[in-house]
Amino acid sequence: MSSRAAGRSIPLPIQSMSARTQHRTGEPDRDSESVARALREVPHRRRNALTGDWLLVSPHRTQRPWHGHTEPRQAAARPSYDPDCYLCPGNRRAGGAENPTYTSTFVFSNDFPALTDITVSRLNGSSPLRAAAPVQGACRVVCFSPRHDLRMSGMSIPDIRAVVDVWGEEVERLGVRYRWIQIFENNGAMMGCSNPHPHGQIWATSEIPHEPGKEDVCQREYHATNGRPLLADYLTNELVAQERVVAENDDWVAVVPFWAVWPFETLLIPRAHRVRLPDLGETERDNLADILRTLLRAYDGLFDTDFPYSMGWHGAPEPGGHQEHWMLHAHFYPPLLRSASVKKFLVGYEMLAEPQRDLTPEAAAERLRSLVHAAHPSHP
Ligand SMILES: [Zn+2]
Ligand SMILES: [Zn+2]
Repeated sequence: MSSRAAGRSIPLPIQSMSARTQHRTGEPDRDSESVARALREVPHRRRNALTGDWLLVSPHRTQRPWHGHTEPRQAAARPSYDPDCYLCPGNRRAGGAENPTYTSTFVFSNDFPALTDITVSRLNGSSPLRAAAPVQGACRVVCFSPRHDLRMSGMSIPDIRAVVDVWGEEVERLGVRYRWIQIFENNGAMMGCSNPHPHGQIWATSEIPHEPGKEDVCQREYHATNGRPLLADYLTNELVAQERVVAENDDWVAVVPFWAVWPFETLLIPRAHRVRLPDLGETERDNLADILRTLLRAYDGLFDTDFPYSMGWHGAPEPGGHQEHWMLHAHFYPPLLRSASVKKFLVGYEMLAEPQRDLTPEAAAERLRSLVHAAHPSHP
């Protein structure tokens, strides 16, 4: 290896900077201060040359506030209003803006966004071993409730329905401009949530990220072969087997998927072929609020704790395109394994080879299902 190759920066000039000549493949890059600065300051994606995986790099985010570590272990006595919370109604946020005195949901653009609309012209300058690609995007924050002390599991069904409606509106609004809209919620300090106020996030991007990109390929291939959506057939199988179904109502089914990695991971699927959140009808939205509450309460009951989780929606990318192979669904990835404090870590073999689990998905589903039945004896 040439000694010139070591320790050089990657070409990532932002548009306003002077254009450079193309490097030959593998040639060490002697790019400028401007490239180094762009890699330090501008959101972009980088590719792992060993695996082909891509990751989002958001280098300017280090100044965002962190409150998670000050949160008490159990949210037993959280106040309904916290004067120091940057999401509570009427409070001032770190970026200086003041929240309105909202009474239902409240959506705003993140003051410390991981993505921006900064345009970069050329990122793939010198070498396939150091690939980078531009990405534009927007980050929104959705406060589920003005109440600082609530979690979604403790909200009323009409109030959860209001959150469902906001999700649909944001997908429609952001979908005009971006190819992928990622709705998600990190709940609990264990999941890295920096504020206990009930809220979720929406990141919209100009590119389809890695996970949904893989799902798009698999669903497209299945549909091409079988003529039906993959998840529609999967759901039919699960409803016949009834081994991994956790909860169901007229419009929705929650299952621990056959391939679950996290101990109590679940997949929430509509019974009808729905492609995106805005496609949902009135009753489907009400029933979604209902099953969200049922599922989250079962989670809370599992270890008698404010059960932490990451959840998110996967709807078809690129609104307007032909997306019959897609089926709308939500993933829930909770980290807890055996108790309120014993967390599953993806380490060792799982980092280096592939995920592994001891508790079977079927056993996990049985435990969750028993909690649903205990809360709703009439449940099927
Ligand atoms: Zn608050
Ligand atoms: Zn998915």
